[in-house]
Amino acid sequence: MARLLALVATVVAMVMVGMGTANAAPAPAWPLVGADATGPEVTSAQYLLRQHGAQIEADGIVGPKTQAAVKAFQTGRGLPADGIVGPLTWAKLVVDLDSGARGEAVTGAQHQLVRHGFAVTPDGVFGASTVTAVTGFKSKHGLPATSLIDAVTWQWLIGGTPTIEGWALPLPRNALPRGEYDDPHHDYPAIDLPVGTGTKAFAVTAGTAALVNDSSCGKGVVLSANGVRYIYCHLSRHAVASGAAVRPGQLLGYTGSTGNSTGPHLHFGIKIGATSHCPQRLLLAIYDGVAPPAPATLPTSGCSY
Ligand SMILES: [Zn+2]
Repeated sequence: MARLLALVATVVAMVMVGMGTANAAPAPAWPLVGADATGPEVTSAQYLLRQHGAQIEADGIVGPKTQAAVKAFQTGRGLPADGIVGPLTWAKLVVDLDSGARGEAVTGAQHQLVRHGFAVTPDGVFGASTVTAVTGFKSKHGLPATSLIDAVTWQWLIGGTPTIEGWALPLPRNALPRGEYDDPHHDYPAIDLPVGTGTKAFAVTAGTAALVNDSSCGKGVVLSANGVRYIYCHLSRHAVASGAAVRPGQLLGYTGSTGNSTGPHLHFGIKIGATSHCPQRLLLAIYDGVAPPAPATLPTSGCSY
């Protein structure tokens, strides 16, 4: 009887693994990590380089030492030594990890689990809390709910967009590198995000959309939520109706260069009353998958020139 139950359990587990694989969405693209890149994917790349023997700091910035380490790693693996960690290099950098593992790669994976909202300490020890986090992360993404971090799991960990309840980036994640969300604006607190015409522009949070059409903003959308106005300008096309209630990540329109604009980009601003607030920290938090600061606490200077 016990053996029969064990057999049944095995068959059920196999079916579940099979279902998980069948239901899984395609893995997200590996990020490209080149010179001057910053962010959590850089930190994980650095820990993986350390796992393979590189003597570099995992400081989250691609400086000259990290670039040299990437090139050395690429040369050693027969890859073109362009210094950019892309799909081919990631595939060689990642290593299979499971419960009980220790070392730099474990720390790299733990940093990603933290980014995805799991309570893990990046200590390089694959213990019980990491097992729980990996299993939870994998089942959330339709992967077999085991603690094994294989290449596909790494791809989801590093390439996946963490979901923060209630917030979304204003553009597709792969439209711009993280560093573009940090740039100052030319005259007052806001940001210009350089993307080509026709890029989807999304609601950053839930709110009510109002359409704008004037000589300055061009085709724009003002998203109002809890007394805060999120302003989108220079669109080529609207994709919501005026007065529409929108949810985070909902398509508002397509970018362009209408109104007072010298080339295609998305102008994004945050206003409370008549005061413009710097959107950079909010956007970076959304990019990094951490809870963004309350808009009212965003600075009102220091992000323009
Ligand atoms: Zn602007």
